Amino acid sequence: MLGRNTQAPTPDQAPREPRQGVNAGSTFRLTVSFMLMVVVAFLAVESWRTWRDYRSVFASARDSVTNLARATAQHAEDTIRQVDVLTAGLAERVEGDGLQNLDVARIHKLLIQQSKIMPQLHGLFIYGPDGHWIVTDKEVTPETANNADRDYFQYHRTHEDRGVRIGQVVESRSTHDLIIPISRRLNNPDGSFAGVLLGTVKVSYFVDYYGDFRIDDKGALVLAMRDGTILVRRPFIASVVGKSLANSEIFKTYLPNANQGIVQIRAVVDDTERLYGYRALTTYPLVVEAGLSRDSIIAPWRQDLLKNGFVLVFLILVLACFGLIVLSQLRQRMAMEREIRSAHKTMRDMALTDSLTGLGNRRRLDAALTDEIRLARRQGSPLSLIMLDVDYFKRYNDQYGHAAGDDCLIAVGDGIRKAVKRPSDLAVRYGGEEFTVLLPNTDSAGAIQVAEDILQTIRSLEIEHAAHPLGYVTASAGITTRYPVDETVTPASLLKSADTCLYQAKQQGRNRWCSAQASRQIQPIAAMPRMDR
Ligand code: GH3
Ligand code: MG
Ligand code: MG
Repeated sequence: MLGRNTQAPTPDQAPREPRQGVNAGSTFRLTVSFMLMVVVAFLAVESWRTWRDYRSVFASARDSVTNLARATAQHAEDTIRQVDVLTAGLAERVEGDGLQNLDVARIHKLLIQQSKIMPQLHGLFIYGPDGHWIVTDKEVTPETANNADRDYFQYHRTHEDRGVRIGQVVESRSTHDLIIPISRRLNNPDGSFAGVLLGTVKVSYFVDYYGDFRIDDKGALVLAMRDGTILVRRPFIASVVGKSLANSEIFKTYLPNANQGIVQIRAVVDDTERLYGYRALTTYPLVVEAGLSRDSIIAPWRQDLLKNGFVLVFLILVLACFGLIVLSQLRQRMAMEREIRSAHKTMRDMALTDSLTGLGNRRRLDAALTDEIRLARRQGSPLSLIMLDVDYFKRYNDQYGHAAGDDCLIAVGDGIRKAVKRPSDLAVRYGGEEFTVLLPNTDSAGAIQVAEDILQTIRSLEIEHAAHPLGYVTASAGITTRYPVDETVTPASLLKSADTCLYQAKQQGRNRWCSAQASRQIQPIAAMPRMDR
């Protein structure tokens, strides 16, 4: 209900507010920001570490499959080359002797001896031009046996090239083992077809070798022909041998472009996603593939991720609990501070407000006066003070009672509030039925104008006052205006000067103003209306 003129005091005038409210608020924000930052930092570091580990397991898996591919390729090449060299020597010898003049007993011994030296060998065989068995490394050579139907035999009969030929896996007629036939053509001196020399390599030899590698259950090692036909595979499944990989990504897309490389693909054989190192042999039309399953590559990483994830979640939960406790305490503190602030404000308002009229009180005026004098001195501006006193108020009380007197004072206070217009003006109830209006930066003429307005406003309230010669409530005003350039202007001197003028106005008949600066001018009373009651 306070008007402009009774607004809250300036910061200089106001008692200091507790600053903890601001601190608690900013501490709250700081704590929340800090906790969020810690959580974000945790997550960022952990994400970065996880990503780095992920890349690192794949980097080491790439090394592994490259090494595996290289080892298996080298092994395959060595295995075949030994048979190649052996059969080349034998062929030279057999062709030199001539198949018709062959010392079968001597060659038989030689074959037995050679096949004992080479663990990969399943057998060594020499076939005549019609496919019948001439000599082998076995103890007994079946006389009726004939291999003319074998595809390597038919190949060599119709092809004149002298290199070894690696055939698809077949089941041995003598031992029923799975074998890889490595064969070469035998010629007569005139170049015509004389027969076939065959060395067979045990598939189990590769299976055993591949079995020695420590790779996971889903890992795969494959030895295939250049056309994609599978010769050996780990894990070994007999039904897969002979199947074609020609349609696999590696054979279709990668091998035509590069003889070796690393790719991550889904296997056609068992639909498992693997990181493959592949390598085509340079000397023989063979390809090896070494694959580690994606699952097994990332398994340790995933385990780590889970472990770290749990730790991280635990840490964040602890932090959140801790944070919630701190925040709830902060919230309580902030609520308490709000209450204290509001109580403080109420007390301050009460201390500076007149409870009857709602205007400022004398304490507010005292505080404001000192400041305004200082300000006016600094700015060289005039400062005016009006002191008002309700006329014959004792009589009013006597006539209408003290409660009605209070109502009258409330109405007069409202009238003064209405008449005082500038935000910087300050109207207070000075005590009893006396009011004071402080007008900063206002000269004598301005102050007289304000005083006239106030007196006129009080008159126009038309409050009945039967004990007043005019019959209605009026007031008198003492006005003083000073330029507080020297130290003689003090709150007391201003009040005293205004009070003296007020006394003079009373002396002159009341219901008028008197100004110290306007040569103690007394307002004429003629214009005042007589209330008609
Ligand atoms: P004058 O015209 O010379 O000012 O005469 P007056 O009767 O107004 O002056 P005086 O100072 O003798 O009387 C002031 C009276 O105001 C005294 C008291 O009864 C009355 N008064 C002071 N404070 C209050 C108040 O809070 N409420 C009421 N109802 N009356 C008050
Ligand atoms: Mg008085
Ligand atoms: Mg009075």
